[in-house]
Amino acid sequence: MNDSHPRGGTRRLAAGRLIDGFGRMHTDLRVSVTDRCNLRCTYCMPIDAAFKPRAELLTYEEIARVVQVAARLGIRSIRLTGGEPLMRSGLDELVRQLVAVPGIDDVALTTNGLLLAEQAERLRRAGLHRLNVSLDSLREDVFEAIARRRGLDRVLAGLAAARAAGFAAIRINAVSMRGLTEGEIVPLAEFCRREGFELRFIEFMPLDAEAGWADDRVLTGRAVRAILERHLGALVPAASGDPGQPAVDFTWGAGSGRVGFIDPVSAPFCERCDRLRLTADGQFRNCLFSTTEWDVREVLRGGIETGATLDAAIATLLGDCVRAKRAAHGIGAAGFERPARAMYQIGG
Ligand code: SAM
Ligand code: SF4
Repeated sequence: MNDSHPRGGTRRLAAGRLIDGFGRMHTDLRVSVTDRCNLRCTYCMPIDAAFKPRAELLTYEEIARVVQVAARLGIRSIRLTGGEPLMRSGLDELVRQLVAVPGIDDVALTTNGLLLAEQAERLRRAGLHRLNVSLDSLREDVFEAIARRRGLDRVLAGLAAARAAGFAAIRINAVSMRGLTEGEIVPLAEFCRREGFELRFIEFMPLDAEAGWADDRVLTGRAVRAILERHLGALVPAASGDPGQPAVDFTWGAGSGRVGFIDPVSAPFCERCDRLRLTADGQFRNCLFSTTEWDVREVLRGGIETGATLDAAIATLLGDCVRAKRAAHGIGAAGFERPARAMYQIGG
């Protein structure tokens, strides 16, 4: 598709890299492998979610091909996500293919952890570099209120298995929602410090499927930090090694470990964004809040291009997607438009 929404800047891909009209170079690709999930988190998915037929999802070979092309354009890190990525069978095989792509030096996974106990060892052997596990609460009743299914014990077993499998620097992602998760913050922090997990709090974004998001349901990173500091002492700002990373990191005042805040609503980091997305059904997106998608499945399956011409067509589409990227997501601004698809259909 053509670039229909440029707001300025160059329309060329500088030196074969994925640079948008605002000078942002893209090095990170989030790849969703499924829209299915074994939870129904209120902030992500409707209770009665309908899923894409399997035939509409990219195959692992198709995903690997896209990643090969993206790597030639400067993509360096891949994060596998969903839906729940561990529900797609043989995910370790995809990991094996992706870590072997020249230019890709980081392959990570975001999971709810329910199936991790069975798969951690296999994923580690396949070469997966990093692991984020989403966990909002250590109380089964709160976990169930959010996820609308049970599973806390399985997540904890998954974390233990991941550590036993040799994953270092496991990170816990926790979504914060006003009126719901305030009481979970300190127990989660104490758990992560005790167990040596890095902790990241993420603000609730307007990507749920049941229109439950409202400004006053966002528990800001600043509010979470205040709760932490009241109970656990002052946090100390920590340097980030990666300029593209959205989190603002701190170390605990006493003892080791880190805690970070991803504040896309109260403190957007769009000017540093280096991310692109590939949905499970083969659509490129240049933002979580993108209202346009670029159909790479059509390119892959259209049968018009093959071999090097197919790679060139994928590269052109990705370039179109990058050039159309807006300056910022615009949450809270007049005219902000929610994307038609919810988080589980995009890939968080
Ligand atoms: N199922 C996996 C999981 O939960 O980790 C991977 C997909 S999930 C969509 C990726 C991340 O997005 C999770 O950490 C989840 O908590 C987060 N997330 C989902 N919906 C969100 C929302 N509306 N606002 C902020 N974070 C959200
Ligand atoms: Fe599933 Fe992850 Fe969405 Fe929860 S946040 S419903 S675990 S995809």
